[in-house]
Amino acid sequence: MSEPKRILIVGAGLAGASAAAALRENGYDGDVVVLGAEAHRPYELPPLSKRILLGEGDEPDWVRDADFYAQNRIDLRSGTSATRVELGARVVLDARGGRHSYDRLLLATGSQPRTLPVPGVDLPGVYTLRTLDDALALRSAFTGSPRVVVIGTGWIGTEAAAAARHHGAEVTMVDVLPGPLWALGPEISKVFADLHTEHGVRWRLGSGIERVTGGPSGVAGVRLADGSELPADVVLVAVGAAPRVDLAHAAGLELADEGGVAVDASLRTAAPGVYAAGDIAAQWHPRYGRRVRVEHWANAKNQGAHVAANLAGGQEQYTRTPYFFTDQYDLGCEYRGLADPSRDELVVRGDLGKREFTAFWLREGHVTAAMNVNMWDDGDALKALVDGETKVTADQLREGDLAALA
Ligand SMILES: Cc1cc2nc3c(=O)[nH]c(=O)nc-3n(C[C@H](O)[C@H](O)[C@H](O)COP(=O)(O)OP(=O)(O)OC[C@H]3O[C@@H](n4cnc5c(N)ncnc54)[C@H](O)[C@@H]3O)c2cc1C
Repeated sequence: MSEPKRILIVGAGLAGASAAAALRENGYDGDVVVLGAEAHRPYELPPLSKRILLGEGDEPDWVRDADFYAQNRIDLRSGTSATRVELGARVVLDARGGRHSYDRLLLATGSQPRTLPVPGVDLPGVYTLRTLDDALALRSAFTGSPRVVVIGTGWIGTEAAAAARHHGAEVTMVDVLPGPLWALGPEISKVFADLHTEHGVRWRLGSGIERVTGGPSGVAGVRLADGSELPADVVLVAVGAAPRVDLAHAAGLELADEGGVAVDASLRTAAPGVYAAGDIAAQWHPRYGRRVRVEHWANAKNQGAHVAANLAGGQEQYTRTPYFFTDQYDLGCEYRGLADPSRDELVVRGDLGKREFTAFWLREGHVTAAMNVNMWDDGDALKALVDGETKVTADQLREGDLAALA
């Protein structure tokens, strides 16, 4: 297949920028144009809810240095939102009146925070966290010992709660679910609940939200479904993210039932020359035999780099297993794989109470996922166990030599 002349990337986040960089690193010589809605050049999101919120710096981890794009003939158009994709004409329109033709198009528009469908969420003092600007605004709101209510106890909610406590804020976390990070199952949820409780976080679990109270001068509190009210100066709504698929949907691209843009194992949509990567890609994953959409840093970085070769004419399948990390107070953890805690057996190696352990999820002798908490020596073995076909027993995982097992 001849090399395409012009590759257009919509979305200058980690997936889009990694794709642009990899195109050049792979030797692609045609035009590369990247449209990014934000004013900043591409950056990574994980430090926002950690280093930046903690006040350990003002700059995120940039995907590449400022001069990288021009030096590599990547036409990065920051502050430029794509508004429409015309698949037949192979053109993308932007909000500044620009028209961008393409031979290949990569959609990498990421996610946006979900909102709560209750009154008061638009009051001053109510925040979401997705961008650098969001993180800087939230950090200033955390100073001065405010009363903070965090709605949602997933990764972003728990990391932000840790940062708020670091700044001396009074923090209450609210969720309809019975515990934080409940998707990992009750045992692991308890580890995180204990961690935050020891650091002074209060909980209102199993509680729905009726409304956010206050007025034009600011938020006053959060009223729960049982009628009680938590006073608040700052409210963070951290109830998950939704893939930004409006452009793709309006263009007529197929969306997956689970959300996201449907792509095959090579990250191609059904429209000729159009690909998707990162948070928005609902990929047919050869390993799992179903669609998988992953909202993690490593997926955006690796899919971005991977899709570059396919944009330039390749057809390689993306087969990596998901990987995720978090840091909260003195707890650091990595998670590899894709478990279903409702059906997989949980096997713990180490000590949950001391927060030094590796959790495995086991299904029919195969490790579906492994999560190491404050243990850093077994990374390669854990990857091999999750990625490989080796059959193991719970006892072997608890007591055995992991490197030998893998
Ligand atoms: C605060 C925070 C902390 C996180 N921490 C972790 C972590 O510790 N570990 C982990 O594994 N993952 C973490 N994640 C998730 C991870 O960062 C994301 O999965 C990853 O950034 C997704 O990359 P992406 O390129 O698909 O999307 P994004 O990074 O969201 O980038 C998409 C870009 O596209 C732009 N865009 C959208 N629509 C348009 C348009 N129409 N025109 C032009 N541009 C457009 C957006 O402005 C955005 O800049 C975190 C996420 C957040 C928000």
